[in-house]
Amino acid sequence: MIKILIVEDEKPIADLLDMSLTAAGYSCDCLSSGTAAADAVGERRYDLILLDVMLPGIDGFELMEYIAPLEIPVIFITARDAVKDKIKGLKLGADDYIVKPFEIAELLARVATVLRRYHKTESRIVVGDVTVDTQSRVVTRDGKPVPLTAKEYALLLLFLQNKNIALFRETIYERVWESDYMGDSRTVDLHVQRLRKKLGWQERITAVYKVGYRLEVKE
Ligand code: CA
Repeated sequence: MIKILIVEDEKPIADLLDMSLTAAGYSCDCLSSGTAAADAVGERRYDLILLDVMLPGIDGFELMEYIAPLEIPVIFITARDAVKDKIKGLKLGADDYIVKPFEIAELLARVATVLRRYHKTESRIVVGDVTVDTQSRVVTRDGKPVPLTAKEYALLLLFLQNKNIALFRETIYERVWESDYMGDSRTVDLHVQRLRKKLGWQERITAVYKVGYRLEVKE
């Protein structure tokens, strides 16, 4: 299981990160000070660190200098409009940053991208009788290959990266079609129907009233 260390002293944000990442299938530890985080990275193995800049004691930048030699991917959490912080974080070797307040879908996408870059993703994802090999992009159901179009495959990955999280149609459209949502939900709905049918996920991908869809995965 992928292990993520969250270093954030604002409890509501730390809780939100913890909840969202845990729901997405990651294992998380939360710490609220730079000193505690420095101890933790010395003792345990982490696949990724989400690091707040403003922390009591050692701040995120000082901690970054400490953890950079360990070659653990780092995503900085910065305050809105702190452009200097973003640049400094990236110069110190961070892989990416997210700006508070952030959308959960954006956070999960950035986490997945950084993990992929470090080849830390598990290339085989199993949900019920469906297996997805993200390296070969082969999807099988009950051992038999399921042919998916490129958009269906992208939609499936988006759901898998956001397990148990309600995704807005708008978010789905922008992530899968990579263009602005113009309010026409038929494209998204059609692709969701097709994916449900191909994978036998009529019960698993549920419609969320006035929002969009959610992939239900009980751990
Ligand atoms: Ca802070």
